Amino acid sequence: MMLQRTDETTACLAEHAARGPRYTSYPPATQFGPIAADRVRQELARIGRASEPVSLYVHVPFCKSLCAYCGCNVIPTRDENRGVAYVDQLATEMTLLSGQLFTAKIVEIALGGGSPNFLEPKTLRTLMAAIDRYFSVSPDARKSIELDPRRTTTAQIEALGELRFNSISLGVQDFAAEVQDAIRRHQSVTQTKWLVERCRAAGMKDINVDIVYGLPRQTEGSFTDTLDAVIDLAPERIALFGYAHLPDKLPHQRLVERAGRVLDGFERASLLLLGIEKLTGAGYIHLGLDHFAKPGSPLAKAAEEHRMGRTFQGYVEHRADNIIGLGTSAISSTPRMFWQNHSILTEWEAAIDARQLPVRRGFVLDRDDRVRRALIEELMCEGEIDLAALGRRYDVDAEKYFETELRDLESLGGLAAHDAATHRITTTPMGKLLVRNVCMVFDRYFRESVERPQFSSTI
Ligand code: SF4
Repeated sequence: MMLQRTDETTACLAEHAARGPRYTSYPPATQFGPIAADRVRQELARIGRASEPVSLYVHVPFCKSLCAYCGCNVIPTRDENRGVAYVDQLATEMTLLSGQLFTAKIVEIALGGGSPNFLEPKTLRTLMAAIDRYFSVSPDARKSIELDPRRTTTAQIEALGELRFNSISLGVQDFAAEVQDAIRRHQSVTQTKWLVERCRAAGMKDINVDIVYGLPRQTEGSFTDTLDAVIDLAPERIALFGYAHLPDKLPHQRLVERAGRVLDGFERASLLLLGIEKLTGAGYIHLGLDHFAKPGSPLAKAAEEHRMGRTFQGYVEHRADNIIGLGTSAISSTPRMFWQNHSILTEWEAAIDARQLPVRRGFVLDRDDRVRRALIEELMCEGEIDLAALGRRYDVDAEKYFETELRDLESLGGLAAHDAATHRITTTPMGKLLVRNVCMVFDRYFRESVERPQFSSTI
């Protein structure tokens, strides 16, 4: 059943809005702490010994200019030589990993940032050649890249086609000129359409577009125009993100504030409901939280076949339990642990120069973390969970184990229900949109925290 866009629904959503983790991992990265490089090496060796499938994530931190709303780890620069030097060091980082990981099958390569298309075609080719040299890349590996439509060239698209990239993700955010002025990112519909058409012609059939709601100067009218223009592009996936305004953590976001009032909870909820109404009305399937997919697209099929996963890149087709991150600030994730590279570029570079794993912090999961991680990921991806099956998987009586949490679910005001007869937790249509609130009940660290780190709003 779909939520109707009424004032009552909007007010109810706005009322539930709270600050909490996005659950792209459990525990959230805010829990990461010191970790020994030896522990990371052991984990890499384990993956290599078992020849397990691996997804590689490569972070490229550079952008030619800084958008005022940006929440990523970005280094603004126009010096393209920095990209060349960076790829050179990425190749060295690969040599530090390849001893252990060469026997693992690389089933996916994702380039994210920043703007990976900061790299010139020649540098992109050098990067992909290094990956081929140091890892065993499966011939049918999925290759994806985030592209900035304002800066992608024909030569880059040709290179990506030759390198057999099959998926791209591009940011739109909002097409209204006054909103683009406020966030200092100017990008036309024509420019965006050009990129989508060129990429399709070059063989990239799986296209994702990001839209953002909650930005200053957005109105229902302007947002409708943006949604219509995006629907017209017919991407395979659409992510409808809520703007995360965290100026204390990201001081450049003060520029957004200066340009206009950041939308309040009611206005955000209203735009979110408008987005859902328009996108589902155009035939897109609402997969969960903020992701939509065209019927028959790879992500829609993955959802249908219960193969959807939640990673630092959002909702994805689950291809591997192990994600290995390369580059500054990149996070690696395995069933047992997480680790993150140095987020300060010079520290990452110094570690690489010293031929050390550039690991800054991490987290080793204990049994309790693993049970909660499985529960939270399933709730995030499926909107429901069979506690009996979870209990069998982890050898616990899940209903007893989560006795307090199940009691607390009742105080969420109808977002989710536990049925003792079927042993299932099921989210309601409202709870599907506020599934982060439901997951917060099962998050041990969130429950125990007194001072909560700066999280984004759940709406
Ligand atoms: S292009 Fe993307 S990553 Fe780069 S500054 Fe703008 S929002 Fe941030």
